[in-house]
Amino acid sequence: MRICRFTTGDDPMFGLVDGAGEKIAEISGDPLYTRIELTGATHRVDQVRLLAPVIPRSKIIGIGKNYADHAAEMGGEVPAEPLMFLIPNTAVCGPDDPVVIPSVTTQVSYEAELAVVIGRLCKDVSAEQAGTAILGYTVANDVTARDLQSNDGQWARAKGMDTFCPLGPWIETDLDIDDLSVVSRVDGEVRQDGTTADLVHGVGALIEYVSAAFTLLPGDVILTGTPAGVGLVEPGQRVEVEVEGIGAMSNPFVRAD
Ligand code: MG
Repeated sequence: MRICRFTTGDDPMFGLVDGAGEKIAEISGDPLYTRIELTGATHRVDQVRLLAPVIPRSKIIGIGKNYADHAAEMGGEVPAEPLMFLIPNTAVCGPDDPVVIPSVTTQVSYEAELAVVIGRLCKDVSAEQAGTAILGYTVANDVTARDLQSNDGQWARAKGMDTFCPLGPWIETDLDIDDLSVVSRVDGEVRQDGTTADLVHGVGALIEYVSAAFTLLPGDVILTGTPAGVGLVEPGQRVEVEVEGIGAMSNPFVRAD
């Protein structure tokens, strides 16, 4: 099942997207909290505006350096335990939304990532039970201001600024994530081409580790890290991120006025 959030100009609605990614069957309510019921109305994907499929109620948990090749390109080792950081939900934007580069940074990078959407309130979930906590998966671009990341020490500003966490295009609930390609393209040119088979800490281990620290709420999102190939984006360029089996999302990068 693919769950999307969209608007036709009025209040956001949820829907189920067909396998071709062309049609939406509208559903009533928010599938995080209510049973899925079709309203009977349908829409064409190309005639609505897709929104971020979820706005996390409490938090986005990022995981740093979770692919060995990316840790190496950043000049570091893979951390023995998952390296966690938090991103505020105000950083979330959706497919095609502009990523706005503020004047405080001149070094903005993309990071294509598999994102896990939590489906229920939970705490202290074992890796073996992690599947019961997951609603589904979406694609994230963990946009990062590299200059602020190194200057600030903490990553809150570098990764948490408004529009720095595009999510989309929808949530796929039925997905085997053992070996999915994770790709980014800048103006159509492939920059990252990794696979989730290379995750250092897999999704089950991440949920165990994260839920030992935090109560997870429905709609919370865990970013699983990015493969090698990160680089800078200039205002005016467009970045597409794609995870096999889910879909692709692209966003123009613009300089703040
Ligand atoms: Mg990242």
